[in-house]
Amino acid sequence: MAGEPQADCLFCKIVSGEVPATVVRETETTLAFRDINPQAPTHVLVIPKAHYADAASLAAGAPQLAADVLHEAGQVAADEKADRSGYRIVFNTGSGAGQTVFHAHAHVLGGRGLEWPPG
Ligand code: C5P
Repeated sequence: MAGEPQADCLFCKIVSGEVPATVVRETETTLAFRDINPQAPTHVLVIPKAHYADAASLAAGAPQLAADVLHEAGQVAADEKADRSGYRIVFNTGSGAGQTVFHAHAHVLGGRGLEWPPG
């Protein structure tokens, strides 16, 4: 069911503590942790603690939670001082767009110049 923990979901296991992560921020509804394979000096993932497969299903099923994730993404950027020169919030959605973990997550990328369009 939407929002319920999934036994085979890596990010649900990070939420439960079963899989370790370097957590930088936590709220009642969200968790932010450093990406294990950083693509920029700042590369933090912000996830809802509840399981939604991607950003679209999160926004449709729990709009306030989607807003919480976006709010926390902005807070991460400020904590990392990435907001001074600009940063990017990315939700890869679908395998064709590079999504590999099917638990909604915002990538917060900053600390270097970011080109457009992305690859
Ligand atoms: O958008 P996508 O689904 O590809 O992003 C998943 C991200 O999760 C990757 O950037 C990957 O490096 C990260 N990851 C992580 N910790 C893990 C497994 C994956 O930070 N244990």
